[in-house]
This record gives sequence, C-alpha cells and structure tokens, in this order.
Amino acid sequence: MSTRIITIDGPAGAGKSTVSKLLSKQLGCVYVDTGALYRGVAFEIQRQDIDWKNDAALENFLSNLDLNFVMKKDSLILMSSGRNITNFIRTPEISLLASFSSAKPQVRAALLDIQKNIAKTKDAVFEGRDMGTIIFPDAPVKFFLFADLGVRAKRRFDEIPDQTKDINKVQQEMKLRNGNDSQRKSAPLKPAADAIEIDSSFMTIEEVVDKMLKIIEKACKT
Ligand code: C5P
Repeated sequence: MSTRIITIDGPAGAGKSTVSKLLSKQLGCVYVDTGALYRGVAFEIQRQDIDWKNDAALENFLSNLDLNFVMKKDSLILMSSGRNITNFIRTPEISLLASFSSAKPQVRAALLDIQKNIAKTKDAVFEGRDMGTIIFPDAPVKFFLFADLGVRAKRRFDEIPDQTKDINKVQQEMKLRNGNDSQRKSAPLKPAADAIEIDSSFMTIEEVVDKMLKIIEKACKT
C-alpha cells in the first residue's frame, strides 16, 4: 500500500466522526466513514423488505447491491444504485439494523472492495469498527477511541434534534449496539494489538485531534 492510511476504531459516540473529519482536514486527505456503508446496506434491506436472516435472500440481495461513495467538496455522499441516500441512513432504526446485519460475514465481504479500493488511490482517515484489525492491518498509525457509556450517550443525545427523546433510551440503544458490535464473531469491535487507545471522556475534540496529530507526526519521522 503506497498511500497513507490512518485508522480510527471505537464504539458509537466516542467522537470518531468529528475527530476523523477534523484530522483529515489537518492532514489534507480524505475521510471515510465506513459505518455509512453498513447503514446503506441496512437502508436497502429495509427499503426492499429483505429477509436478511435468510442466507439465500441475503446473498441474492448483496449480489445486486450497488453502493459507492462520491466525494463532494469535503464531504462524502453515499450513493445506492445512483441515488443519493446520505440523508436517510441516520435514524435509530437504521443504526440498529446496521448493527445486526453487519454481523453477517457476507455483508462484510460485500463491502470489502469498496473500502480497499479507496485506499489504493487516496491518503485517508478511515473510521469504523474493524479498520485496524481486519481491513487495514498494515496501517502505520491506528487509533482506538473510546469514552464512558454515559458520556457517549449524552453526546449522542445532544446531537439529535428530537429533544423529547429520553436520554436513558439513547443510552440503552447505544449499549445494545455496542454489545452486538463487540460480541459478534465476524470482525468484532476491538482495538488492534498495535492501536493507540485514547479515552475521550474528559477531552475536547480539539485535544483529541492535537494528540493524534502529534502521534502521527512522530510515527512519520521514524
Ligand atoms: O459508525 P456507525 O455508528 O455509523 O456504524 C453503524 C453500524 O455499522 C455499527 O453499529 C456497526 O455495527 C457497523 N459497522 C461495522 N463495521 C464498520 C463500521 C460500522 O460493523 N467498519
């Protein structure tokens, strides 16, 4: 791999997306939110009413799946069969369905090439759950970003426009999703052996990005 790849894994709400966006800006490279791909799969499963627990139905669905990213200025647009679905993939239902369906090895295999192909031609910050462990095991710098469950739930709660929602419900959804993601057999959420772990519970986004930049700078000198 001749391009420079930085990986950031961790549970939902740890600040991965905001940090990855800022970091990629500072490094002058692209930012790839791989969770959007799993959300895209979930969106299509829901839209096409696919019985994804049935392997034959899932495989047929995946063989017709046409997901890809289009770069627009500094944001990524998720396209499905030529349609921009970026604004439809952030609902709580899609979050949970993405978490359940992403445990299927067939789903993970179907998204492998999209991720690897981007890395062939572009320097990038890749954010997800298995970036450092499975997709880019040779990445020169890997981070695992985490935070206390209560802090992560509060951050997610503050992001959602629907303030009538109970913060305890947000926390429960997050706990369920991270339990699924960590305990699944296929590419579970965990730090790579050589990942640098950062606890963002009591850090600002800027502090996290600064810390990462210093680590990257040092790693690139050696
Ligand atoms: O990152 P985000 O919360 O948008 O991801 C949605 C879901 O997609 C996660 O809960 C996880 O189940 C799945 N995912 C994954 N592997 C990745 C990125 C996301 O399994 N690399």
